Amino acid sequence: MEASPYCGIIDSHFHTQSMLEKGMDVFSVFDRLFESGFEGGIDIGCTHDDLPGRSRLLEKYPKILLAGAMGPWEAGRSETKPPEPEFVYSQVKSVSQIEKELGILRVNLEKYRARFIGEIGLDYYWDYGTHEKQSLIFETQMKWANELGMKVLIHDRDADEDVMDVIKRLGPKEGGVIHCFDGNAALMDTALERGYYISFAGNLTYRNNVQLREMLKKVPRGRLLLETDSPYLSPVPLRGRPNFPEHIIHTYRCAAEVLDIDFGELKDIILENYSALAGGRP
Ligand SMILES: [Zn+2]
Repeated sequence: MEASPYCGIIDSHFHTQSMLEKGMDVFSVFDRLFESGFEGGIDIGCTHDDLPGRSRLLEKYPKILLAGAMGPWEAGRSETKPPEPEFVYSQVKSVSQIEKELGILRVNLEKYRARFIGEIGLDYYWDYGTHEKQSLIFETQMKWANELGMKVLIHDRDADEDVMDVIKRLGPKEGGVIHCFDGNAALMDTALERGYYISFAGNLTYRNNVQLREMLKKVPRGRLLLETDSPYLSPVPLRGRPNFPEHIIHTYRCAAEVLDIDFGELKDIILENYSALAGGRP
């Protein structure tokens, strides 16, 4: 019998809660994937209070690791731009509210044994809150990563310079992952120097992203990861549809083609990197 293409596959970044909110039958997908030899992945945190619920939801999947964090969106409604459509934080948030929420997250990180702090970072595209509020949230968690010896998962949208500055200043010493890497060479160099992995999402497969595929070739093999960012960013040929961790297979195939290596060899490289990131076999 031919081995399943999912045998030994991982997905380094997805959002189970958001898939459920979109009405997706995510548990059937997980069950099917694990039966086919899927090696798991990281369920990403977005808000200060989502860890308890996510931990319960994923209890029966020991190979799905939990990350917890306040993302830049928790800086509240943009004070410079019109709010993001359908954005839950329609309110401007005070610094004291943000500090209170950071306190709740800190307790949750330890109580629910999150393995990573993520996703954290800066987002100047939607420009949540103010840059100062986003920095407060980001830098506080980078300092925690150093205190707790944890790795971080970084979100960067239109904020390369400031993200690089924070990585240069704060590390953290354990490194982490630049998630959904968008091709900025300076960011890649800075992150690699600080021990980070570079993770490519489904946009790697988009026809016009020639430059991103060129960057893929430049990442040292030992620092490369792949992800779906489900339910967002479905790869070609499923672009535009809600994304599932199952769709990672298309990104693997694309990456193997770009790197001109065997699909099986790529699977081994990614699994080895993921295992090292997770601190052992997933
Ligand atoms: Zn994400």
